[in-house]
Amino acid sequence: MLVSSRIKNLSPYVPGEQPNDRVYIKLNANENPYPPSKNVAKSLIKFIKKHPEKMGLYPDPDSVKLNEAIAKMLNQSGGVLCNAKVEGKKVSPAENDKIPFTVTSDMIYSGNGSDEVLSFIFYAFFDSSKKFVMPEFTYSFYPVYAGYYNIPMDLVPLKDDWSLDVDKMLENAKNDDGGIIFANPNAPTALALSREEVRQMLEKANKDEIFIVDEAYVDFGGESCIPLLKDYKNLIIVRTFSKSLCGAGQRLGYIVANPEIIKTVFTVKNCVNHFPIDAINQTAGIAACNDVAYYVETSKKVVEEREKFYNFLVENGFYVTKSKTNFLFAKHPSISGDVIYKKIKEEGILIRHFATKGIDDFVRISIGTKEQMEALKKAFYKLRMKN
Ligand SMILES: *Cc1c(COP(=O)(O)O)cnc(C)c1O
Repeated sequence: MLVSSRIKNLSPYVPGEQPNDRVYIKLNANENPYPPSKNVAKSLIKFIKKHPEKMGLYPDPDSVKLNEAIAKMLNQSGGVLCNAKVEGKKVSPAENDKIPFTVTSDMIYSGNGSDEVLSFIFYAFFDSSKKFVMPEFTYSFYPVYAGYYNIPMDLVPLKDDWSLDVDKMLENAKNDDGGIIFANPNAPTALALSREEVRQMLEKANKDEIFIVDEAYVDFGGESCIPLLKDYKNLIIVRTFSKSLCGAGQRLGYIVANPEIIKTVFTVKNCVNHFPIDAINQTAGIAACNDVAYYVETSKKVVEEREKFYNFLVENGFYVTKSKTNFLFAKHPSISGDVIYKKIKEEGILIRHFATKGIDDFVRISIGTKEQMEALKKAFYKLRMKN
């Protein structure tokens, strides 16, 4: 065969279904049910109508204005949108989320979705001689990239309550001389460590090894670790526009870290694809960051619907983890995850079921609009949950 030996060891990521055959209510990929801020459409139309010539020019290779806009948004929201306070257009962080320094644009690196950004981090800080410690169940893209770059993994099982086994992760990282990665809140379990718990981990972890916290879902009620960047130079925080910023189709993700780390990631970028974010996406990203108030509002709505659906599931006999995300991770004592997924799909709604052993009893339900969640309730009633 003409393929390299590397190809044989790869196991590709399996995304949530994106069907074209029928119109489903999509609650299977943790996308945001709300459109982006009107500011985004306005900026895009202006870009195309007023500056069509810019389509013929290369974009800013370093996305300087976008990184400035991201830094500003983080300072305004404290990095947790659903908790932020809004007065008119003025947004300020909740007391608990205040960042004890100003996030500056040299602490930001942005790329085509956090998936790309993660790939650059993996490339920059790991190789085949250095192990990656991660929870057994976490974002399933980490093992895919680790495989791609030939980075050995050390998977640590979750505890019985589905939380991270922090002590075991630290112990293994010590023994392996390795780095650590996890999502906080974690996926698909929806549970979060507090900032203080992460601080204690960082305190005990090897200070020379990279420690990555993926905050894809933190805007829905976790505690951001951005305040910890002041004390821990080995900390890398990864975030995305795909969930709380209603931009999964856009492909925009970013790193928040100390400038030294950001510089290293820029070096990788300049060796792979030096014009990573196209001009349209940079425009859309800046426009989104300039309307933080809108996303505070949509994040609060998602949280409200999540809490309602959590109660509904519990009332109907489900075990549900205490979610700090835009999804619920739930299992029923007698109906299997696979059956739930299939029956709900028959009703025209997609939720996610993982065939992976250990979590195959569960379904993962992304939180939609009020109307979508009402439709989902009706579909669940057909399951005869109480018999
Ligand atoms: C959705 C998700 C991402 C991916 O984000 P993109 O920016 O769309 O690539 C990263 N990490 C976690 C934990 C996620 O759930």
